Amino acid sequence: MKNILLLGATGSIGKQTLDVIEKHPNEFKLLTIAIGTNIIKGIEIIKKFKPKYVSVINNKDALLLKGLFVNIEIGFGERGLINAATYVGNNNFKHIVVTAVVGSVGLVPTIEAIKKGYTIALANKETLVTAGHIVMDLAKEYNVDILPVDSEHSAIFQCLNGENNKQVKEIIITASGGSFRNKTREELETVTIEDALNHPNWNMGHKITIDSATMINKGFEVIEAHYLFGLPYENISTVLHFESVIHSMVEFVDSAIIAQIGTPDMRIPIQYALNFPNRLESNFGKSLKLQDVGTLNFKPMDFKRFPCLKYAYDSGKTGHSMPTVLNAANEAAVNLFLKKKISFLEIENIVYENLTNHKLINNPSLDDILSLDKEIKENILSKYLKGEI
Ligand code: NDP
Ligand code: MG
Repeated sequence: MKNILLLGATGSIGKQTLDVIEKHPNEFKLLTIAIGTNIIKGIEIIKKFKPKYVSVINNKDALLLKGLFVNIEIGFGERGLINAATYVGNNNFKHIVVTAVVGSVGLVPTIEAIKKGYTIALANKETLVTAGHIVMDLAKEYNVDILPVDSEHSAIFQCLNGENNKQVKEIIITASGGSFRNKTREELETVTIEDALNHPNWNMGHKITIDSATMINKGFEVIEAHYLFGLPYENISTVLHFESVIHSMVEFVDSAIIAQIGTPDMRIPIQYALNFPNRLESNFGKSLKLQDVGTLNFKPMDFKRFPCLKYAYDSGKTGHSMPTVLNAANEAAVNLFLKKKISFLEIENIVYENLTNHKLINNPSLDDILSLDKEIKENILSKYLKGEI
């Protein structure tokens, strides 16, 4: 049995994690959840899974839940999120924290969970983008496993299973191309939120769906891979692969390439992370029949068409505080796009402008990162939401 501490239980990854837990009641027990503002969904989850601790964003919602569930501990805000990530359950069982909140708000609870010695099933990619060096160093210090949930990283992780990491020549991350893969730059000028949220292969939360459309998501995944697998950026490439059947590949020094393939269903990598190193039976995704797929298509990545991917490579290579700026500027810009305050192409302009204007902080501390993240977001939001915040 494993204790699962689920940050972001009401989201897309959260919901699919709950599917995995429900399917294997003898393997996993939901110990805590952290949610945002979707209280109706939260109540459903509490009734069904009976976690011991629940965290929400607002005190008002916490009071409401306290009235409804007298036997459950309820917290709120940043403290609540940390409690949900560090709660102590039955100590005979392993504790696994699934980080499925969206944005850099996932960073501090992840760090606290690592300090507690809890295994991390990492979905929240912003954590590694904004503070990869700090998180990976801490994981090493506390001897904690960071197990990838993102399908590409789970694929790479599986391809590397039993291999010698020193014999890796290249990691090849596949990209579906997002909602706008068939559009020209001119056509992108007038696309709407509704267009952007219509991803061809995956049904995900709003932010990551927009990140996929700008392709910054693939850039985040490159940075994530750099930290998770310890490879220089020169050895991490991306390729467009429209069917999302090959989830990623690893080429070794002898030119052999191992790929992990399967039906695109996030419950498969989630379950793999939760039960690593063993696999569990499941009938989530339909078995992939290559004869039904017929043809797999690939295209070279176009950095001119997707400048955000280039910004991510450049920020990763520059390192220090640059990836924090990349992430914070993007979070604020996507937030504005989702509020219909800016156009789709303005997202990349805001990211570019903030990267260009940034004065690099060498080897930033956690405090440096947290204040930079806040400053960048506040600057952008106050500029575009004059009088509204
Ligand atoms: P969603 O938007 O669907 O879900 C986000 C979750 O975080 C919700 O439960 C939301 O609560 C909660 N949340 C948001 N802000 C806070 C906060 N301040 N405190 C506590 N909870 C908060 O996102 P996804 O599930 O799509 O993505 C989650 C993370 O996983 C992202 O980092 C994404 O990049 C990554 N990821 C997602 C994949 C996917 O297939 N969806 C694939 C790979 C990675 P509420 O809804 O109650 O407000
Ligand atoms: Mg992915």
